[in-house]
Amino acid sequence: MIGAVDIGGTKIAVGVIDETGRVLSRRECPTDAVAGYAKALDRMAAMLTETARAAGVNFSGIGIGSTGPVDPLTGEFGEVNFFPHWKGQNPVRDLERMFHVPVAMENDADAAALGEAGWGAGKDKKQLIYVTIGTGIGAGIILDGRLYRGVDGSHPEIGHHLIDPSGPACACGFHGCWESLAAAPAMVGWLQKNAPLDYPHRHNLTAKRICELAREGDEAARRAVENETYYLGLGLANMVTLFAPEAIVLGGSLMKSAILFLDQIRKAIVRNCKLVPFEQTELALASLGEDSNLIGAARVWHHRFAAGEGQRV
Ligand SMILES: [Zn+2]
Repeated sequence: MIGAVDIGGTKIAVGVIDETGRVLSRRECPTDAVAGYAKALDRMAAMLTETARAAGVNFSGIGIGSTGPVDPLTGEFGEVNFFPHWKGQNPVRDLERMFHVPVAMENDADAAALGEAGWGAGKDKKQLIYVTIGTGIGAGIILDGRLYRGVDGSHPEIGHHLIDPSGPACACGFHGCWESLAAAPAMVGWLQKNAPLDYPHRHNLTAKRICELAREGDEAARRAVENETYYLGLGLANMVTLFAPEAIVLGGSLMKSAILFLDQIRKAIVRNCKLVPFEQTELALASLGEDSNLIGAARVWHHRFAAGEGQRV
């Protein structure tokens, strides 16, 4: 049994995950980054103890997925947007000290990618790219069951590959990154900018609401979805051309409305990827559901420590 910790910008979720990827018990609390790291660590530890008690188990390890950047090899937080004052803190070392079990941490997109590769829609795929599309775009690459790392253990930032240099400014400093054009806020921004002045749904627009309106036949929302699909399709076609993967697994809040996007994304791949065997790349939806990050966090531990999965990386 593995204790899993999913550290996000707004909430921290904790759970007990069995060896088949099932969530046996879970708790969550606000991240409350401004209250400081020490308080957040205490809450994580308390929830780990509670979930273990609720499930009636002892942990053999703890896996963490966190919004990044994090250093998976040292266990330290980098300069994370949502909690910049936690930089240099080390939840891996701290939870090891508190629980006396091995602990491993990865970026949350890598954690979710490992989860889908081990227990979800990407099971048994040799080359797998997991892409999560929500507030941002994150991705993890799995090759032969191992997480792909850049130099010094770094996490490649696929959400920030360039799609249109004349596009909108991105927090990373570039213009026209995939994330700045195709994450959920981009779709909302596009509609706010392009909808008629008297558009009745202008207030409190969210990506979810736009998808609902598009399904109801709202013309402006339908065009926003079309624009979103165009940029999603370009980025995913780039993935197919660059990696020719066996599967791309799509997750994140926007993919709850995947039915609006998938047909046109497939067409973009057919149009753009003629130099690789694109017809062999399966486009699948993530199958671990709402708790995919949490389940992925547990898989981080298996990937790092479980027998038969190679050296500690
Ligand atoms: Zn960017």
